[in-house]
Amino acid sequence: MFDSLATCKGTNRISCKRLIRLPGRGMLRPPISRNQGLDPKRIMPNQPAGQRLSSLVRSAGMPLVFTGNSLDRADARRNDSAWTAARLKDPASKFLVLSGLRPLMATRPALDIHYLDFAAVAEVLDSGAQWLLLGIEKDGEKNGEKDQEGGTAFFALDVTGHEGALPATGSAEAKFIDARSVAMQFGTAERDGGRAGRIALARAVLGWHARHGFCAKCGASTRSARAGFLRACENDACLAEHFPRTDPVVIMLALDGERCLLGRSPDFPEGTYSALAGFMEPGETIEEAVRRELMEEAGIEAGAVRYLASQPWPFPSTLMIGCYAEALTTDINLDGHELEDALWLDKKVVRDILAGSQDGPVLVPTRMAIAATLLRNWVEI
Ligand SMILES: [Zn+2]
Repeated sequence: MFDSLATCKGTNRISCKRLIRLPGRGMLRPPISRNQGLDPKRIMPNQPAGQRLSSLVRSAGMPLVFTGNSLDRADARRNDSAWTAARLKDPASKFLVLSGLRPLMATRPALDIHYLDFAAVAEVLDSGAQWLLLGIEKDGEKNGEKDQEGGTAFFALDVTGHEGALPATGSAEAKFIDARSVAMQFGTAERDGGRAGRIALARAVLGWHARHGFCAKCGASTRSARAGFLRACENDACLAEHFPRTDPVVIMLALDGERCLLGRSPDFPEGTYSALAGFMEPGETIEEAVRRELMEEAGIEAGAVRYLASQPWPFPSTLMIGCYAEALTTDINLDGHELEDALWLDKKVVRDILAGSQDGPVLVPTRMAIAATLLRNWVEI
């Protein structure tokens, strides 16, 4: 089935070479060795390829789930332990509680974060459970005047193992639900008002605390500080400070004129294809990471790269960086372990599959993922 859709597949390299025709050149392009170095003239930002990609970027305006957290993160308050202690006990403060990194959600009348107040979580807080200052509402006003203490404070609290100390968290109206499921039901940030963004912050940082109980420098135990945004080594001879991590991942759609490159990992559901992706490595730019991943996974040489958008992905603490890349070669050469297949698909085919008017591979089944934004933004141009 895929053979009729794809103009190039890794399993059919000879036919690929026959079909290669770069836009505007009117001639076949000879295959390029994957070891050939990049000519700097081909990756300069002002070249036509870069301008074509830039037109894609200007059109992007789609909100992404896990973005749009509207809270003031109140960095200046994080070292103010007296202020923090007072807000923890403030009856107006709200607690987003998580068990096993699953947020407590209200399921009726509509899915929403089920915040608890101090009275409901006091016993859990007393037990030493990990908490985190998510931030304060930006419009912190009382009686028309600016509230010097800020607006309502929002905290996250890890209640794992303490669920029994909470009021009615196992009822039909309030359940701990996997954050992916919540995000899928919330949809885009525009629709969810940034609520998934709060969950992303809570899940990523509380997960980081759970994994970093000991100092990476000396091995001694660490303690939470700065309202949950720091772990400090308790060894007086060390006193190293450790901050929550964000791990950048580039995810890219390689473009060859009116075709895009999609691949499938062995662990994808059967028949499913998505944009290629990979973790950035130390000492490289976003553009370099995009080109390296395309070459490593599919043997595709890329020139101009344009950033589209990014998306926090708190599983456990990733930032997805969505890009388009201009393919300089189209002959697929799979790496043999990260991808089991890759193919070029025409824009019309992709558009029809997404619209449900044509059968074909399952394309980026998770609409909330940035890969879907890359693809849908491209076909709408
Ligand atoms: Zn240490």
